[in-house]
Amino acid sequence: MAFEGLADRLQSTMKKITGKGKVSEQDVKEMTREVRLALLEADVNFKVVKDLIKRIKERAVGQEVMESLTPGQQVIKVVKEELSELMGGEQSKIAASDRPPTVIMMAGLQGAGKTTTSGKLANHLRKKHNRSPLLVAADVYRPAAIDQLETVGQQLDMPVFAKGTDANPVDIAREAVEQAKAEHHDYVIIDTAGRLHVDENLMDELKQIKAAVNPDETFLVVDAMTGQDAVNVAESFNQQLEISGVVLTKLDGDTRGGAALSIKAVTDKPIKFAGMGEKLDQLEPFHPEGMASRILG
Ligand code: GDP
Repeated sequence: MAFEGLADRLQSTMKKITGKGKVSEQDVKEMTREVRLALLEADVNFKVVKDLIKRIKERAVGQEVMESLTPGQQVIKVVKEELSELMGGEQSKIAASDRPPTVIMMAGLQGAGKTTTSGKLANHLRKKHNRSPLLVAADVYRPAAIDQLETVGQQLDMPVFAKGTDANPVDIAREAVEQAKAEHHDYVIIDTAGRLHVDENLMDELKQIKAAVNPDETFLVVDAMTGQDAVNVAESFNQQLEISGVVLTKLDGDTRGGAALSIKAVTDKPIKFAGMGEKLDQLEPFHPEGMASRILG
């Protein structure tokens, strides 16, 4: 399970401080030292850890703790709040355009889980929000990618717009939006091509698709298991494509959690959903507060 190591370490650190009727500067120093090591070991970005520890320290020796009747618990509350804030604070919602269809563009490296997540998101929108999405196969480089999305569409009993591998992805995206309008779909989810690494051709194509359909959301799908690489990928996609949010996949695996804890701080873009398995109903809105509580117990 994700975050297990981090959760164990932080919880044992917090246990030491929880019952304290008085929290000294030395206590805070020891606590933040342990939190710092635990976060670094969980593969959280170095600079992110540094800033976070600074904020926790300031607050933990501040008035709210000193004047509290239960200073130990107050310190833990501070750590929880800061962890939650780090991951994005309040959970942000998915866009809904006043002039449907709402267009969502999915981007990411090959294997991150883009196609699966496109299906999961369509399923989520239909099930939880009563929407009628159109899935769009705009990865024309791998015939298998189109087949895969069509299979997902069949599993969900949901339409897929595809034009084979000869069409231009920009035209596909544009035509799909037109078709969605004509057929009264209120969401369009465009599954774009990925590559093994961030490269210029890929970015150019994604920029062109983005310019052609002006999406309401541009989601980057990243694999949580890839740790700091996920953070670097998010940073470069955000710089070049200006993403609006992140979907973190494979959080059901035994990831150390560094990506989840660093992406918002590094890109300033929220993690909106978490992939929790291979099945099409295993997508969850990402709740920073809930996640912080889970980690701290
Ligand atoms: P794409 O190349 O980015 O379109 O990636 P795919 O959608 O084909 O997914 C790559 C692999 O990751 C597939 O085997 C998926 O079943 C798997 N996958 C995607 N999301 C998740 C997830 O949240 N958890 C797990 N365990 N596997 C996932």
